[in-house]
Amino acid sequence: MSTSDVTRVPVVEGYFVERPDGTATLVGGKCERCGSYFFPKRFSFCRNPECGEPGLIDVDLSTRGTLWSFTDNRYAPPPPYPASEPFEPYGVAAVTLETEQMVVLGQLARGTDVSALKAGQAMELCVEDLYEADGTTYTVWKWRTA
Ligand SMILES: [Zn+2]
Repeated sequence: MSTSDVTRVPVVEGYFVERPDGTATLVGGKCERCGSYFFPKRFSFCRNPECGEPGLIDVDLSTRGTLWSFTDNRYAPPPPYPASEPFEPYGVAAVTLETEQMVVLGQLARGTDVSALKAGQAMELCVEDLYEADGTTYTVWKWRTA
């Protein structure tokens, strides 16, 4: 099997879309009544307690934001979560999306120097491989410095 035979799929279906050109977008839910955004779009109703509109529309979330907080994770997650073997520490970022007024968590892209990050700096969405199993590469969204 050559590399091109490997299927790439999001580790969680519906959370993001990766295009052939390498760009990606998180898919959130938006309430058309009050304008609130949600990610992930886990429920089909607006969770704004003053709204409660039944039904959200799918929207592409902003692909750039500002770094709100971050840390580096030096412990492998317990099963059933996949971890590299041997475990490689990775950074985690919380990024504020201006338009949506929300914070979205994600791993930092491989090779990000966590010690060089500063809150408030520009970040952008990317997609990287998370793990492979049975000829399928599972991908996940990450944040990298913009
Ligand atoms: Zn609403």
